[in-house]
Amino acid sequence: MTDSKNNKLTKINAVRGMNDLLPADAQAWQHLDHVLQDLTRAYGYEYLRTPIVEMTAVFQRGVGEATDIVEKEMYSFEDRLNGEQLTLRPEGTAAIVRAVIENNLIYEGPKRLWYTGPMFRHERPQRGRYRQFHQFGIEALGFAGPDIDAEIILMGQRLWDELGLKGVRLEINSLGQADERAQHRAALVTYFEQHKDKLDEDSQRRLLTNPLRILDSKNPEMQALIEGAPKLLDFLGEASLKHFAAVQDLLKANNIPCKINPRLVRGLDYYNLTVFEWVTDELGAQGTIAGGGRYDPLIERMGGKAAPACGWAMGMERVLELMKVSGSLPESIPQCDVYMLHQGGETLKAALVIAERLRNAGIDTILFCPPDGESASFKSQMKKADASGAAYALIIGPDELNKNEAQLKDLRGTGEQQAVALEQAVEAVINALVGSSE
Ligand code: ATP
Ligand code: MG
Repeated sequence: MTDSKNNKLTKINAVRGMNDLLPADAQAWQHLDHVLQDLTRAYGYEYLRTPIVEMTAVFQRGVGEATDIVEKEMYSFEDRLNGEQLTLRPEGTAAIVRAVIENNLIYEGPKRLWYTGPMFRHERPQRGRYRQFHQFGIEALGFAGPDIDAEIILMGQRLWDELGLKGVRLEINSLGQADERAQHRAALVTYFEQHKDKLDEDSQRRLLTNPLRILDSKNPEMQALIEGAPKLLDFLGEASLKHFAAVQDLLKANNIPCKINPRLVRGLDYYNLTVFEWVTDELGAQGTIAGGGRYDPLIERMGGKAAPACGWAMGMERVLELMKVSGSLPESIPQCDVYMLHQGGETLKAALVIAERLRNAGIDTILFCPPDGESASFKSQMKKADASGAAYALIIGPDELNKNEAQLKDLRGTGEQQAVALEQAVEAVINALVGSSE
């Protein structure tokens, strides 16, 4: 691409709403990844990775046609080499269920699974809302009882505690079963039709496609109307109420406070019975950090043998932002133990050999490489060594090399410097590092 006026090459930017993870933020993400690995291991969840691209039908059928995601947020395209209809995954669950069915994973019994990775939704980018974002999610497939609903919620609570998040609230609701929702839906339609003039454009459309979703509306002018709408909880039968009560009971036994939010319906079509979200007031409009629930109908709907399931997904960007606001991001740890300085030529050769030996011994080492491929003064190299966060500098100049020595300089403590024999350089570094960590 060239700028026509001065024929200069112009730069190409990233796609809007899709962000680079810069080195300065990498450690926070790695920390989160570690905590998530420990969490899933603690509860016996196994990792499953699906591709980033799926057949569009996976989400049309899995997420549901009358949802925000399928209606307007999917990156769908035709593979022009074979005409297949494909979609960049907007969420994890439908793809996980596709993989579970395709690979017969619950043939022999229930499975606890987890996943993580980028998701894609064509939304208006703003704080906490991106077009490529990252989710971590868990799915427990083949379990029918309220115990597993409680287990996955406990995992969430443990995670927030582990990450030091402050002010995260659990909201919970029951969507009952399809026949109960159908009765509620009829009552909802009657109610909203009586007040059709007060419905905004989105809600008028939803009245025909998915009236339950009107309850989800954030439009302030519709709130009073929504407050007065028939509540789904009043339409639940005995079995649904029993399941809901049992989940709450198990949460109570574990001291997990929750608020029943009768308007919590979740944006996706596949849920039944328990649904829940974790919300915070600390992140402005994008206050939901995670959400999920039971989705017993989904596996059969995706072409598998009917089996119950439940799970939740969290937005990693929002969780990291909340960690930042809560002051619980870990301090950054220096990248290396030793920084190696030299003067090019034979000293570079010696430094390269020693650097490899250090790494063989498990010592993280950065070797100075002059940007111009020549060499640089020790003064400017020492600045880089200081900035690297290394504990020690190992210096090999021509004088040192003549004596088969190197200078070992303490960068964090006293600044002390001592000559060490090249042959013993690795041992000297190990001793120094052990000494300084005592
Ligand atoms: P919202 O109501 O904020 O649009 P959602 O109901 O569409 O959220 P889910 O499909 O339940 O979200 O996804 C689970 C989590 O993923 C959300 O709670 C949120 O933390 C995160 N998330 C969803 N969409 C985005 C996005 N565009 N950018 C960043 N995070 C997102
Ligand atoms: Mg959304």
